[in-house]
Amino acid sequence: MANTLGIIKPDGMRRKLAGRIIDKVERAGLIIRGTKVLWLDRERAEKFYAVHQGKPFYKSLVEFMTSGPIMVLVLGGHGAIERWRELMGHTDPAKAKYNTIRREFGTSIEKNVVHGSDSETTAKVEVAFFFREDEILPKE
Ligand code: UDP
Ligand code: MG
Repeated sequence: MANTLGIIKPDGMRRKLAGRIIDKVERAGLIIRGTKVLWLDRERAEKFYAVHQGKPFYKSLVEFMTSGPIMVLVLGGHGAIERWRELMGHTDPAKAKYNTIRREFGTSIEKNVVHGSDSETTAKVEVAFFFREDEILPKE
């Protein structure tokens, strides 16, 4: 029953895809337990993606993630971590399955519209990166 972190990246927000993405989230039965819109500065984006530091795409990724507002979401429900990853699709939109968000809306391996935590440990850290406890609905 672990929560996971979802992000609608700057490309998704710029292209007004938030509503269509949230529609898919709700249709998939995921529960929205928290959300906010914000604009990452370089320092915060670098910290969030610290695991990718040193990789060839890191600098460009940070540029991209600071290029405009993002929407962050706490998503819950049974198997939320895996289900949100499944709904997003492969990192590279060209390799993502049909009916996934990245396949439908992504335009490159970088500009792939959404982020999702990849494990229970990562999800805890990533949710806490953006949300205080009292900004998240209890699981009841
Ligand atoms: N990324 C990129 N080039 C790559 C791999 C990843 O620009 O070759 C970007 C892309 O936006 C991706 C993010 O870096 O979503 C984080 O990469 P990761 O491998 O964690 O993929 P994800 O978990 O997002 O599927
Ligand atoms: Mg990842």
